[in-house]
This record gives sequence, structure tokens and C-alpha cells, in this order.
Amino acid sequence: MKIAVLPGDGIGREIVAQAVKVLDRLRLPLEMHEAPVGGAGVDAAGEPLPGATLRLAKDADAILFGAVGDPRYDALPRAKRPEQAILGLRKALGLFANLRPARVHPELAAASALKPEVVAGLDILIVRELTGDIYFGEPRGIREVAGEREGFDTMRYSEGEIRRIAKVAFEAARKRARRLCSVDKANVLETSQLWREVVGEESRNFPDVELSHMYVDNCAMQLVRDPKQFDVVVTGNMFGDILSDEASMLTGSIGMLPSASLDEKGKGLYEPIHGSAPDIAGKGVANPLATILSAAMMLRYSLARPDAADRIERAVAGVLHDGLRTADIHTAGTRRVGTDEMGDAVAAAL
Ligand code: NAD
Repeated sequence: MKIAVLPGDGIGREIVAQAVKVLDRLRLPLEMHEAPVGGAGVDAAGEPLPGATLRLAKDADAILFGAVGDPRYDALPRAKRPEQAILGLRKALGLFANLRPARVHPELAAASALKPEVVAGLDILIVRELTGDIYFGEPRGIREVAGEREGFDTMRYSEGEIRRIAKVAFEAARKRARRLCSVDKANVLETSQLWREVVGEESRNFPDVELSHMYVDNCAMQLVRDPKQFDVVVTGNMFGDILSDEASMLTGSIGMLPSASLDEKGKGLYEPIHGSAPDIAGKGVANPLATILSAAMMLRYSLARPDAADRIERAVAGVLHDGLRTADIHTAGTRRVGTDEMGDAVAAAL
């Protein structure tokens, strides 16, 4: 199994090194090749996504990605900015399904802005469509109408686009508690009416998964009122953009959250949801657990090794249970450790 390892910028290198350490410890037949991306790509080859990096990513079974972005490049034209590397990879690899789990380890429930009893033990997965919807629909623009400017965008989804994301979500639900909630705005939007119809049709192929539908405004409320009612949530690009950020903040700890972006064949790019954190880069204090948990997702969703994914997740839970904490999740009475020590502890717990 070939893995493209793209650490990127800022804390990317430090946290990806810990995930690689953990993967090495599993002693699986993994071939890992590293390449520069983001600001590191600009330094190495003048491009945020150098050709050789893209070829490596295309060739691999999965991609382990750190983070990109560096204030040194903020003045570059948009096409050369490090963040373009992610958009380029998504496009070139056809990564249309974004999987964002939000999980609250019981020991970290106090980090949430919500009451601990509302979030303790939370384990939900948001599946967001990533390549369609109002973000890409045409026509769009700003035009002059009756003497004033008017902005407009087009929300659109084809049946095929809805069906393929629904399938990913049903399959993910099958690997979990077998409940799927499809989120739309079918009371107002035609696009959402079609969405609801197609997801309903697709559910016939997954009779073992319980399907429900919810309007997006209600879902936004339910996520803070009673988030544990959900197992898997599937939604379009724009609603998913907002709801996945809302869900991640239920956990209160950005350094803990992994993500996956998948193509039609299950190949994927795996990365923590946070950025390159230039404020703490090079200090050895970044939390590597989001990246380590991203590596676990990679084993589950692209490399067909759910057993190894479970082992990593259990090791992370064990280390937290033992009271080890990086600075971002540190509380009184627990032991503060650095990036390396946290990676070592997870590897040892395996
Ligand atoms: P950020 O996620 O990098 O950091 C936000 C805050 O969270 C910072 O205080 C940071 O120190 C902290 N933080 C983030 N990850 C952490 C970790 N693993 N452990 C401990 N603390 C952590 O967001 P930002 O500061 O808005 O952006 C910084 C750069 O990252 C920008 O260039 C931005 O464009 C880029 N970015 C990249 C991605 C990506 O690569 N997918 C995502 C978001 C932002």
C-alpha cells in the first residue's frame, strides 16, 4: 500500500512525523513517500502543488496531509498561495466526499463550550459533498439590473452527484451505528427537493441503515441542543461547510479532529481539520492527535484495515485516559507533554 506523505508548512512537519511514527509501529506493508506541498512546495519548486508532488499523490493509494499556509507567502498572488495546493489536489483527484467526525473523549468533555453531559461520549460523522452546489454553480456574478448592482449564484446538484455522496454516507453509516440523517432545505429549495428524493431512492439499497431527513436550520439547532441524537449526517457543500465547523466546535479542541476527502473509488486525502498554526510552529507543542487519528481514518476508509484503525483509536483513548495532554487540551491535574512525547506515547500504547 502506497502512501503519499505531504507534511506541508508550519506545524505540518511536526505532527505528520508523529502519524508516520505510529503507522511504522503497526508493521504493515506500507510504502511511504514524502513530497513538499504548500509553502514548502513554493520553496522547493516555485509552486504550491509541484508536478512531482501531484504525480506522487495520483500514484498513491492514499495521501496523508499535514497543513499548508505560512505568513511569509501572504503577499503572493492567489494562484501561488500555499492554500491553493488543497484545492488543486481536490480537483485533480476528484475528491468529492468530505468526512468529518466529531468525537468527544470523555476525559475532554470539559473543553467544550457546551455542558459536559450534552457532549460527553459524542461520536458523530458529518459527510459533506465537496465539489458541487452553489459554490461551483453557473451562472454566477455581479450584474447591473435597473440601475443597481445585483449579486447572484446558482445552487445546483445533478442526480448523479447526489447519489454518489448519498452512497458514501450510507456506507459510512454501515461502519457505525447505521443511522443516517440527510440535511436539506426542501421546504424552500428545488435543489433540496431533488436531494431528498434521490437520497430516499438510494436508501432502498441500504435497508439496514435507518434514514431520516432534517431541515438545515433545525439541524443547526439540534447540533447544540442534543448532538448525541446523530450518527451520520449527510449534506451538500454549503450546508456542510457550516454544519461541519459547528460540529467540530462541539468538541472544543481543534487539535483532536481528523478528516478525510474521498474519490469515487475510496482513495482519499487525510488531514487534520486545523491549519498550519504558525503561532506555535517549531516549538514542539502542537497536538499531533488529529493527524494520528487522520491516519486511522486512512486505514479504515482507503486501505481496508479497520482493525489497525481501531488499534490506533484505542491507543489514543488510552493515552488520554492516562492523563497525557498537549498544551491545547491541558487542564489541572493532567500531565503536559510535547508533540514528540505524545506521538511516542501513542506508538507505545499500540
Ligand atoms: P489554525 O488552525 O492554523 O490555528 C488556529 C489556532 O488553533 C491557533 O491558535 C493554533 O495555534 C491552534 N492550533 C491549530 N492546530 C493546533 C494543534 N494541532 N495543536 C495545538 N494548537 C493548534 O488556523 P489559522 O491560524 O487561521 O491559519 C493558519 C494558517 O493555516 C493560514 O495560512 C491558513 O490559511 C492555513 N490553514 C490551512 C488549512 C489546511 O491546511 N487544511 C486549514 C485552515 C487554515
